[in-house]
Amino acid sequence: MERIAKLIGGEHRLDHVCRTLREAARSTGAALHGAMHVTCSDESEHESCQVFARDYVRELLPRLRLMDCGAFRTANLGGRHEWGSVPLCENHFVTPELDRMPGAFKLIAVKVNSHVGVLTTPDGVRWGEMKRYGVDSIACGALSLLLGDSTLPEIERLRETFNFEGLDRVALLRDEAKIPPERRLLFAALVQARLQARRVILEIQDHVPLTPTLYLVLPCVTINRPDRDTEIVVGLYLADRRTPEGQVVYQGLGDDPTQFGTALKHGELRIEDAAMHRTREARDHRRLILEQIGEQHRRHAGRTPHHEKLAHVRQEVAERRHHERAASRLLLRTALMAIGEINPVLGALIVFGNGAAAIHHAARAHRLARHEAGAHEARVILDEVHDRVDELPPERVQALLEALTRETAASSKPDSPS
Ligand SMILES: [Zn+2]
Repeated sequence: MERIAKLIGGEHRLDHVCRTLREAARSTGAALHGAMHVTCSDESEHESCQVFARDYVRELLPRLRLMDCGAFRTANLGGRHEWGSVPLCENHFVTPELDRMPGAFKLIAVKVNSHVGVLTTPDGVRWGEMKRYGVDSIACGALSLLLGDSTLPEIERLRETFNFEGLDRVALLRDEAKIPPERRLLFAALVQARLQARRVILEIQDHVPLTPTLYLVLPCVTINRPDRDTEIVVGLYLADRRTPEGQVVYQGLGDDPTQFGTALKHGELRIEDAAMHRTREARDHRRLILEQIGEQHRRHAGRTPHHEKLAHVRQEVAERRHHERAASRLLLRTALMAIGEINPVLGALIVFGNGAAAIHHAARAHRLARHEAGAHEARVILDEVHDRVDELPPERVQALLEALTRETAASSKPDSPS
């Protein structure tokens, strides 16, 4: 892993990155290899895809048909991780051989590429520009739309990611006093790769793999040059899901574009920030949400008949009726409906924090915790959990009932409306 860590922040040939990743993957002793590649739809990313396929996938992955093999691939505007990809990809690379080898595990490499064009002119380096079929063109076009005022749904999704945990990175990137305009698209691409890799990690943390799995997640920025492309390695996540406890560590650049510095080393670009050499544990966003529940969230207005329903559920839980399988699901539905009327934001934070709401609600849960979203967004989460109560494992239903009744008991005396 040290050899990949050394690549972080630097600009390298595409084949050098893929071969270093391949050697790191081999050195883990994994019995089976899988791979996932996330890229922008832009045709200029074809070289990045080809090199990863040639120098990583073809060397390590099992044959899909007679002679060919392939990575699990996502290509969309900007190169967004699509929710659900991690469980699908992990399931695809489960083969019977692994079951027959005690202690064996598989390794899934996830390469997340954003991209940026560059032109060197007598007036200097122009990031975000390229010649496409002889015509001046923007790359990445999707990130350029993001920094403009596009309201396309896919661009809005990117914007939501760029605002994760309340840091408005689009505003920072647009602010000429903070980031020189000529580096705006380069820095946007760095942030994009980093944030999308974090979304991959959120899913990896949440998904229980079918067989023991070690993940290497490598966010990179392809630099679309007039001749051969190169890439900057943004960071490296090592996510160990070989045991139920699991551990995820990260080393590399952060996600705040105002912290990036650029330097030229032997004619090659280097990006740096203060934390890039420090290995840190990835945060558990469900736990973070639970830790943020405070008195302000517990406030609610007026006593309603729903309090009586919640009091009934609390009584049933106190008498341990929620351990009865059939009763517990009915109680949970009642509790979710009641809290959806009394205090939906608190309810949504509790169900997300306790693992009942899907991980793709992480950004929404953070907005609710920061009071930047209200009842409508909270009910999106609560309604989804309510509709899927039958799919929850019994122990999660019980834990959720205990959390809901405990948290609402602390605030059973309603405040006057404020
Ligand atoms: Zn693009």
